[in-house]
Amino acid sequence: MANAQRPAVVISARGEQRIRGGHPWIYRADVVDVSATGGDIVDVIGPRQRTIGSALFSDRSQISLRMLTTGDHALADEALLRSRVEHAIRFRESLALDATAYRLVHGEADLLPSLVVDRYGDYLAVQALSQGMDRLLPAITLIFLDLLQPKGILARNDPKVRALEGLPQSVDVLHGEIPDSIVVREGPVAYDVNLRTGQKTGLFLDQRENREAAARYARGRLLDCFSYNGGFALRLARTCPQAEALDISADAVERIRANAVRNDVPHLQAREVNVFDELRRLERAGERYDTIVLDPPAFAKNKASIANAMAGYKEINLRAMRLLNPGGYLVTCSCSYNVNEEMFAAVIHEASIDSHTPMTIVEKRMQGRDHPVLVAVPETYYLKCFILRRVE
Ligand code: SAH
Repeated sequence: MANAQRPAVVISARGEQRIRGGHPWIYRADVVDVSATGGDIVDVIGPRQRTIGSALFSDRSQISLRMLTTGDHALADEALLRSRVEHAIRFRESLALDATAYRLVHGEADLLPSLVVDRYGDYLAVQALSQGMDRLLPAITLIFLDLLQPKGILARNDPKVRALEGLPQSVDVLHGEIPDSIVVREGPVAYDVNLRTGQKTGLFLDQRENREAAARYARGRLLDCFSYNGGFALRLARTCPQAEALDISADAVERIRANAVRNDVPHLQAREVNVFDELRRLERAGERYDTIVLDPPAFAKNKASIANAMAGYKEINLRAMRLLNPGGYLVTCSCSYNVNEEMFAAVIHEASIDSHTPMTIVEKRMQGRDHPVLVAVPETYYLKCFILRRVE
């Protein structure tokens, strides 16, 4: 039964069904009655007045409720938060990752909805992406200070989704000091990261294991497309005597060059170009490669852009296949959660047919293990990475 003292939200039968199906979100359309303010931890009440669990409530977002607990006596409090953070940290420790930068908390998958915490050596970058988590941030900060004693904690609260929650977009130091440049290691590669301005929280941590996997195949002449600060290129250039990295951002290209020097792969060349144009130019020029990486930004940011995104993925994959020598490898990725694995596989199939290059799939991979997928939310399997081989 509802507890009169506590904030509560009543949901519809359809909403209740979703929660029973394991989905952690309730949309606004399934909210029937609200006695709470935005950011509260609320009791979630079913249509028959039964308490279904507790959740973070947002009065602005389409996602009104993010479940914290289910069951009628499972109250969400600070002790629960602390134990979830502890479990999240212990899980990452158990992975024995060969890196000093990795994700410590991956939101819903760690039962800490809308919270992201990334570790960069002695520093933490956090994102609170809902009203409720934003309000809990001081408590979360204290928990991390107590458990990990970081030298600094930075809130990278600048993602656009914060605007949907009616929250300000800002970057704030929550604890200690955050230097402009932090050096972290991922396998044999050292990166210089700026936590304040880097994409995401600084690096694309979710590709760590795919870079390592790709390194098992990489050889000959390498082309790393959409390289950012050289994620794949720096790792693969160690086994590729010729290596080129492409990115449209001047800033990114500058970082690739600095990272190439730092990592002792001076043969890695970086070019500031549009990959779509450059792949066509390389094809016309008759260039050939033995290893190509395609790691574009999410082309399908929403459902409306899926058709264009599919065309974009097909275009770059088709061109890359044509640029490959027989026996060469294509490491191709999509991080659009709106394009699922089946759709991505269909694009690869079409690109192979249209480019007249027989391709085999050697490995199908996803985001790194520190970014696990919540099975009840298929969209949390957002990063697809196929390693393909051109047969002849
Ligand atoms: N591969 C990187 C992450 C890539 S993020 C890693 O492993 O860390 C996507 C990158 O694509 C960004 O750096 C962005 O600047 C770049 N980009 C976006 N559109 C582009 C285009 N049309 N041509 C070249 N680069 C592009």
